[in-house]
Order: sequence, then C-alpha cells, then structure tokens
Amino acid sequence: MPPRRLLWALAAALTPLLLLVVPARAQESQALRVTVSAAEPDFPDGITFTLEAESAGPEIVEAQLLYGPTRDETLTVVEPEFTPGTRVMASHRLDTRVYYYPPGTEISFRWVLRDAAGSELTTEPQEFVYHDERFPWRELQDRNVIVYWYRGDEAFGEELLSSATRTLDRLQTQIGAQLTQPVRIYVYANNADMRSALQSNAVEWIGGAAWPGYGVIVGPIAPGDRAELARLIPHELSHQVLHQATENPYGGVPVWFDEGLAVHNQEQRDIGWDEMVAEAAREGRLIPLEALEASFPADPEQALLSYAQSRDVVEHIIAVYGEAKLAELTAAFASATPVAEALPAVLGLTVDELDAEWRATLPPQERQPPDLSGPPVAPPERFEEQPAGGGPFAARPGEPPWAGLLNGTRPLATATALALCCVVGIVVAGAALLVGLRLAGVDKRP
Ligand SMILES: [Zn+2]
Repeated sequence: MPPRRLLWALAAALTPLLLLVVPARAQESQALRVTVSAAEPDFPDGITFTLEAESAGPEIVEAQLLYGPTRDETLTVVEPEFTPGTRVMASHRLDTRVYYYPPGTEISFRWVLRDAAGSELTTEPQEFVYHDERFPWRELQDRNVIVYWYRGDEAFGEELLSSATRTLDRLQTQIGAQLTQPVRIYVYANNADMRSALQSNAVEWIGGAAWPGYGVIVGPIAPGDRAELARLIPHELSHQVLHQATENPYGGVPVWFDEGLAVHNQEQRDIGWDEMVAEAAREGRLIPLEALEASFPADPEQALLSYAQSRDVVEHIIAVYGEAKLAELTAAFASATPVAEALPAVLGLTVDELDAEWRATLPPQERQPPDLSGPPVAPPERFEEQPAGGGPFAARPGEPPWAGLLNGTRPLATATALALCCVVGIVVAGAALLVGLRLAGVDKRP
C-alpha cells in the first residue's frame, strides 16, 4: 500500500497545525481510547508501529500515524489500512532500508484516530532511539556526548570519551559553544560492520558518516587505532557543536569555516598540508576563499587543497586576530549574518581582503599553474552519495578515512571522501530548505 505521506512543518507545533489542517468538524473525543501504542525497532531493516484502540461511541474509521526524527521539523503521515470497528488494531511497517535513518536517530510518533461521528483523539508523542541493536554496545557519556563501542576494553571507551570531552573543552573556548543536545558516536570495529549500518548504496571506501541534524556520528575505529580516533572524534564533534550553535532557518556557516575549524581541532594533525598549500601558492593555484563558501570542489585534489586552505585560514584568523574572533564569527553565523557582512563586522575585512592577507603569509608565486585539463580524476558518480528517493530524511554521507593522507595508500579515495565532507553539509542545508518549502506539501517520495 503506497501510504499517503504528508510533510508537516514544526513538529513542536504539531497539535495546533493538526487543528488547522484537519476539518473543523473534528472534536477531541472522550469516547476514544488507545490501549496499545508501540514501536518495535529492528535496525537496520525497519520499525513496526502498532496500535490498539477502542471506542465507547461510534466506530473508529480512520487512523493516522505521524512519525519522524524528533529533531526534524517534519513528520511523515501514513494511514495504515485496518478494519473499522469499536475495537481496532492497526500497524505500519516502516522499511528503513528504503527510508533510511542512521543508528541513534531519535524518533517521535503519535497517532490520530477519528470515529464515524468525526470526533478525534491525538495521542501524546512517544519517543525512542533507533539503536543498532545487532552489536553488544558498551557506552560512556559525559556532557551530552555518548560514545558507543563493542570491540575493545573499557580503556578504549574512555579514550574515545576523553577525546570527545577535550574537544568540547576546546570548542567552548574557541567558539563559546557547547552541545545543547545529545550527540551519539557509534564506533564500529571495522569498515564492514559500519557499512552494514549505512545505506546499501554507500560507497565501499567511505570512512564514516555524520548527521549533525540528528546528532549522530558513525565511524570505524579499531581499538588501538589512536591516529584515527584522534582525527575522527574531534573533527566530527567540531561539526556537531558548530551546527548546534549556529542552526537557524535563514543562514549557514561558510564551508571553509566549518571544515577549517574541524580540521584545526583534530588531535592528529594532517601531515604535509602546509607544504601542499605552499606549493599551490608557488604555482598560483590557490582556490579563492570566496569559492569555498558554499561547497568544496568535487575534484579530489582540489578538495584536499580546500581542506588544507581552510585550516590555514582559520589558523591565520586565530594567529592574527585572536581566538575570540572565532566565537564572534560563530555568533554572527548563528544570527544568520551572511559571511560578506560577518567578516567586515568581526575582522574589519571583506572576504577578499582576508584572502589576500592570508595569501601574503605564503610563498610568492613562482610558476604558472600546470595544465590541469584532461580527464577528471574520478568519475562524477563517485560523489553521488545521495540515496535514491532523497527527501528530508536523506542520509548524510560522511566523513573521510583521512588515513590515506598519512600513509599515502589511498590518496584518491581520501581526497574524494574529503570532498564529501563538505558536500554533505550543503545537502543538509538543502534538505532543511526543502523541508521549509514543503510545508504541508505532499512528499514526493513514491
Ligand atoms: Zn568535515
């Protein structure tokens, strides 16, 4: 049964909206009663919602299930088929292989029942966390960060958590923000386990995934892989804190600022990036800062350079203007100030002036840029990480394995993954916009 799916804005304001949209005939019924309302998660296959209800008056003729990630501003509405009566049972199976939610997504749901006389009952919202229960997770938490791991001892978990809390301390100083909502970090022991939790079309080399809007980070870190731990945890947590600190419906954070801060915060510094930037300066192929505001280039080498430049620019701001300016910029982005206004207000420089000032710290150009024409390094579909169907619940593919940067064994994959790191940010922003545009509209998913 292809259910009718409507997207409703503002889950928090759900009840008023329902009253707004549902015909005026509806009255809250005293005769309707729900005896069972449950959700049975079965990650990664699906979630089964079940309802049992009865009416002391007219027959129950309509039941709607409204569900969605708690932190989304949308709910999906389905109308499961059931036999009308004074005692009814209804259920809906959500196939999360199709409509993907990452592990750790907080999901809310409620039911709306109507009887033959037009009276209705709306149940109180219920919530649960869509855990990946296939693994014997251990968990530790502190200050809104919850780390989950299943391979490795308690000390490994403590290492994960302490990397996270150190990052929170740094970000508190740097951008004056901390987590206001929980972030769940699922540490899988290897790539195969992690990939089994991602969408089936996730590319093989993907090094992790993150959904700042849901407060979820998924990554493969083998116990003992301190280098990966020191890169992935701080980098991803930086994105989550900045996202929570600046989330607003009107404006975003420049990608170079978001990624520059994330890379700067890594406890494992990427080796060779300073020289990469210096060489790009000598060859006159630095990417204009303005071009790194909305997205990073798809070309793997250009993407890698974008990350390196972004880190450098953020560190230039810290060195010349002081770390306090990062907090001021963050506050400006939180109030939806465009970067073209935020930079002059906070640093007294336009984007181009900041770019020029930063470039002046680099070696002068010595050569003409090499001819970069020719076949693309990677086919474009390497970057197509959006799941079929898309929509506001589209997954955010993720973060890079980084390791290739250090050992040089996977430079292409790593650079490609790095490109994703920025692309996904745009996807999330786009999804948010989409959601806004679809107020009460019909979801285009089949
Ligand atoms: Zn990133």
